[in-house]
This record gives sequence, structure tokens and C-alpha cells, in this order.
Amino acid sequence: MDFTDKRVIVTGAGKGIGRATALMLARRGAKVVALTRSPADLESLERETGCVSILVDLADAEATRAAARNALPADYLINCAGTTELESFLDVSVENFDLLHAVNTRAPMIVAQEYARDVIGRGAKGAIVNVSSVAAFVGIPDHAAYCASKAGLDGLTRVMAKELAPKGIRVNGVHPTVTLTPMAVKAWSDPDKAAGMLARIPVGRFADPDDVAEVILFLLSDEAAMVNGLSMPVDGGYTIA
Ligand code: NDP
Repeated sequence: MDFTDKRVIVTGAGKGIGRATALMLARRGAKVVALTRSPADLESLERETGCVSILVDLADAEATRAAARNALPADYLINCAGTTELESFLDVSVENFDLLHAVNTRAPMIVAQEYARDVIGRGAKGAIVNVSSVAAFVGIPDHAAYCASKAGLDGLTRVMAKELAPKGIRVNGVHPTVTLTPMAVKAWSDPDKAAGMLARIPVGRFADPDDVAEVILFLLSDEAAMVNGLSMPVDGGYTIA
């Protein structure tokens, strides 16, 4: 898959899956527009890839819209930024519920609105990938707000796919299982929990960020021209019934 001269917005490009995706895109010729929060991550990514850097807290709706507008025009959009807090259902605080929905669900909507309006206004074509999670499909203890925020994102993906494809923009979701990133360290550092999760993954390992990045790039590319509205597990078979 060649992305020469394609301009691609990647949210959450500072670490983990977003960073791996930005690096893979740059290796394949793309100009990456990186949106993330930590300046040090952006500076090092800029040095490595020559990306355009936009610093933003995606929990802030107005700042997110302004950052999305600054990122335009773009050929493709990857909504990858995400966050989590571990709380049992009985302990979920309203603050964390709202934060996770702001970053994981509302921000992808805002960035995609700005991207799609611009693509449609220019009479161009495009594609969006929303990075969801297997947590949108199954109930994972201590992840109530996270599961809800990702299921909400999937609802958006489906409506976007129906409304935007006739206007030339395909929209798909990818659903990784545990992927070896800083987020996974936060969520899965308890060895007993990690072992239980691993035992349910038929391929016998957690995902690497590049496993997910490859699927994201496929869904963006013209090779996936007839793929729209898909929820694509990248989970080694974890969600097989
Ligand atoms: P990481 O925590 O490793 O990286 C997330 C990136 O998003 C960081 O660069 C982070 O910046 C950025 N980000 C988070 N919150 C904000 C914010 N408020 N404003 C701007 N940027 C922000 O996560 P992963 O790479 O693991 O996750 C990427 C995506 O994949 C997420 O949507 C996640 O939900 C999903 N996912 C991850 C899985 C996993 O096991 N790792 C499994 C399934 C799905 P900073 O560090 O500066 O906050």
C-alpha cells in the first residue's frame, strides 16, 4: 500500500498504535498530520517523520474543533487517540465517564465532521478509520465507561458509513484486543488478569501496534474500496463466538 503524497490526520499519534501508524504511513510516503497532547512525543515524531504537529487536548471540544480545522486539508483521517480509567461499574465516577466519552467518542465525531465537510466541499474522496476496541463487543470487568465509550464510537461509525459513503468517504472501525502500548501497561499490568485475557486469544499472543497499523492502512487504502461500515477485529480470534 503506497501513500505517496497523501496527507493523513492521525489523532493520538504520540504513543502506541497511533505512533506506529504514523511511522508506517511516513515510511510509505504519506505526510502525517499528528494531533496529540504531549509536546515531547510530537517533537520526537516530527524529528523522525517530518510530520505536521498539532498540540491539542481532545477532551476540550472547542480546542478539538480548532485543531481539526488547522489539520486540513487531508486525504484521510485516523481517529486513534483514546484513554481509559480502571473502575468497577459500581465505582465509575461521572467525571471519568464524561472524560472517556469526550476523548473516545466525542472527539472522533468532531474531527471527522471537520474533515468530512472539507473533503465534500472540495469534491474530493476520502476514508476514515475509527480505532475502537474489542471492548465495544464484550463486557470487560473494570472497563464500564471504556466499553460504553467504544460502543458509542461504533454507533457513530455505522451512521457515518451510511451518510458519508454516498458523498465519497468510506468509514470503518478497527477493534484491537490488548495491544502492547502504554495504555495496555495501565490496563493489563495485573499478571492474573493478563493471563486470563491471553488464554482467550487463539493465536496465543497480544497484538503489536504494527499488527493494528497494517489493518488501519488497508482500510484507508483503495484496495479496500468496497469496504464500508466494517467493524474489523484485530484480536487473534478473541471475539469468535
Ligand atoms: P496509548 O495510551 O499508548 O496512546 C494514546 C495516544 O492518544 C497518546 O499519544 C495520548 O497522548 C493520546 N491521547 C490520549 N488522550 C488524549 C487527549 N485528551 N488529547 C490528546 N491526545 C490524547 O494508547 P494505545 O495506543 O494503546 O491506544 C490507541 C487506541 O487504541 C485508543 O483509542 C485505544 O482505546 C485503542 N485500543 C487500545 C488497546 C490496547 O490494548 N492498547 C486495545 C483496544 C483498543 P498522551 O500520552 O500525551 O496522553
